[in-house]
Amino acid sequence: MDVVIRNANLADGQQGVDVAIEHGRIMAVGPRLPLQAAQEIDAGGDLLSAPFVDAHFHMDATLSYGLPRVNASGTLLEGIALWGELKPQLTQQALIERALQYCDWAVARGLLAIRSHVDVCDDRLLAVEALLEVKRQVAPYLDLQLVAFPQDGVLRAPNALLNLKRAIAMGVDVVGGIPHFERTMAEGAESVRILCEYAADQGLMVDMHCDESDDPLSRHIETLAFQSNRLGLHGRVTGSHLTSMHSMDNYYVSKLLPLIREAGVAAVANPLINITLQGRHDTYPKRRGMTRVPELLAAGIPVAFGHDCVMDPWYSLGSGDMLEVAHMGLHVAQMTGQQAMRDCFQAVTATPAAILGLQGYGVAPGCHADLVLLDAADPVEAIRLRAARRLVMRRGKIIAESPRARANLELPGRPASVDFRLGR
Ligand SMILES: [Zn+2]
Repeated sequence: MDVVIRNANLADGQQGVDVAIEHGRIMAVGPRLPLQAAQEIDAGGDLLSAPFVDAHFHMDATLSYGLPRVNASGTLLEGIALWGELKPQLTQQALIERALQYCDWAVARGLLAIRSHVDVCDDRLLAVEALLEVKRQVAPYLDLQLVAFPQDGVLRAPNALLNLKRAIAMGVDVVGGIPHFERTMAEGAESVRILCEYAADQGLMVDMHCDESDDPLSRHIETLAFQSNRLGLHGRVTGSHLTSMHSMDNYYVSKLLPLIREAGVAAVANPLINITLQGRHDTYPKRRGMTRVPELLAAGIPVAFGHDCVMDPWYSLGSGDMLEVAHMGLHVAQMTGQQAMRDCFQAVTATPAAILGLQGYGVAPGCHADLVLLDAADPVEAIRLRAARRLVMRRGKIIAESPRARANLELPGRPASVDFRLGR
């Protein structure tokens, strides 16, 4: 064997297992494997997980914070205006450099797969070319999947549908959309039909920004589920944001959830962004704006948590830490039950991996040896501590390491160092 990781806990609850790796793949998982390996790693009872996966991001905008100016109000509308000011100034080289820098941050955080939307409303398709180049460059260490995203509306913006098809022809993977930004509800529904038919025709996946508003009558997710069902796109369609569902009538939602389930549509909530951008027209009480995550899960619908933004016109914080995303999602959705907290870990690992259609993902024989060793005993502790990534592995090779979180104390009568984990 090339590598054996000894005495690890797994996210599914298994404790004290060894993981054997050869030629970049996991060969065996089990207690006290009787194997010799060139490299032995002692996990020391820490959590060994498959890597973090972000199902919803905007890599063409990331790390542009402050260009050409900061978002003074911090609102969605000023963010969109700011992106409009920035777009004509974008250069391909700067886009590539910022995206590569973000991918470095992601690797350091154990985030090894990202689905990024890329705006196709600029006739030059500069951002598309740039992110396709980034995708090629990072492929050895990070899976980057791209969504052709008509930010200004596929019907509302001139050339948007044409540009979207050009982007797909250039190698972009997924069909995007933004029905709530079209001029009317009817045009929004028409955009969903056109885009889903195009995806069905091309054999592609679909991921739309859908109902990202506080409008209780914004019901494009219903149309997306209907079209997915009609066109047989089950398992290939994702509704991102779905924030209007927070404000919908309860009876209507009781009918909507089984429809989404029947259509095989997955959901992505973006807790950091939803909690800061939604509810801005409210006085008090102020709506949280995140979609109904526990209810979606209870209905059998896969739900992932996405990061959406890091240091861009819409959000001035973030660092590629999916545990921070899970932490916020857990709080906003009040998912404090034992299983619910583990579901939040799943929402930044296995669930988005399935949404992206990643092959060979997991901690099981035959899977890629893509792993993260966390300074925590289990998924709940990992979220609580936003645990340090002791090591990040890609295809059996260590590509990032961080020290455990410890502090040395200078207190009389107290232990010399402090550990933030109970029972240690
Ligand atoms: Zn988004």
